[in-house]
Amino acid sequence: MLKENLAQVEKNIELACKKAGRDRSEVTLIAVSKTKPVEMLQEIYNEGIRDFGENKVQELDQKMPVMPEDIKWHMIGHLQRNKVKYIAGKVALIHSVDTYRLAEEINIQAKKKNVIIPILIEVNIAQEESKFGTSKEDAILLVEEISKLENVRIKGLMTIAPNVSDPEENRLYFRGIKQLSVDIRNKNIDNVSMDILSMGMTGDYMVAIEEGATMVRVGTGIFGERNYNK
Ligand SMILES: *Cc1c(COP(=O)(O)O)cnc(C)c1O
Repeated sequence: MLKENLAQVEKNIELACKKAGRDRSEVTLIAVSKTKPVEMLQEIYNEGIRDFGENKVQELDQKMPVMPEDIKWHMIGHLQRNKVKYIAGKVALIHSVDTYRLAEEINIQAKKKNVIIPILIEVNIAQEESKFGTSKEDAILLVEEISKLENVRIKGLMTIAPNVSDPEENRLYFRGIKQLSVDIRNKNIDNVSMDILSMGMTGDYMVAIEEGATMVRVGTGIFGERNYNK
C-alpha cells in the first residue's frame, strides 16, 4: 500500500518537474509521518526516503531514537520556546520560525550545544487567522533581525497554503512566496540564503513545484488519512 502511494507521489513530482522544466533533484520529498507508527515510517525508509516531517516535539522525541540514524528530521509544526531544547541539534531543519523570540531561544540552545541550527521563516501567505506565520509585509524585517543571531541560519521560507479543493487556487500564493524569497535574496543579507522553499502538501504539491518549491511536505498522500481519535 505505502509503496504504491509513494510511487504515485514520486510520479507526480516527476511530472510537475517536467512541466516546469525543472530537474527532479531540485525537489526534496519530505514524508510527513505525524500520528503514524514507526513501522510505517520504516516501510517508507526502506523505499529510500530519508526526510521525515513531524509537527510535535514529543513525537519526534519518541521516533528519533528508534529509527535509523541517517534520517533527516524536519520540525514542521508550531514550536513552543520551552520545547526548543529537546530538538536543538537533533533535527535537520526547523521550518516553522515566525517570531524573533523563538529564533532567539533557538540561538541560545544552539550556542549551548555548540551547533549552528538551520531554519526557515514561516509566512502566512493567505493571512489566515487559524495559521501561524509572519505576514508577507513583516517577513523582510524579521529576516533582518534574525540574521544577526550567531547560531541560527536562515535557509529560506515555508508556507502552509489554504486548504482548498482545487490546487490552482493556491498557485498565486505559491508564486507570491517565491517572489518574496527573490526579494529577500536580492537584499544580500549576511548569513541569509533563500535556497529552500518549503511549500506544497498532499492537495497542492504539484502546483507548488511548478511555482518553485524545493521541499514538498506530503503526509496523507503517502501514509493515508490521519486518525486523531486513537
Ligand atoms: C500535516 C502537515 C503536512 C502534510 O499534510 P498532508 O495534507 O497530509 O500532506 C504538511 N505540512 C505541515 C506543516 C503539516 O502540519
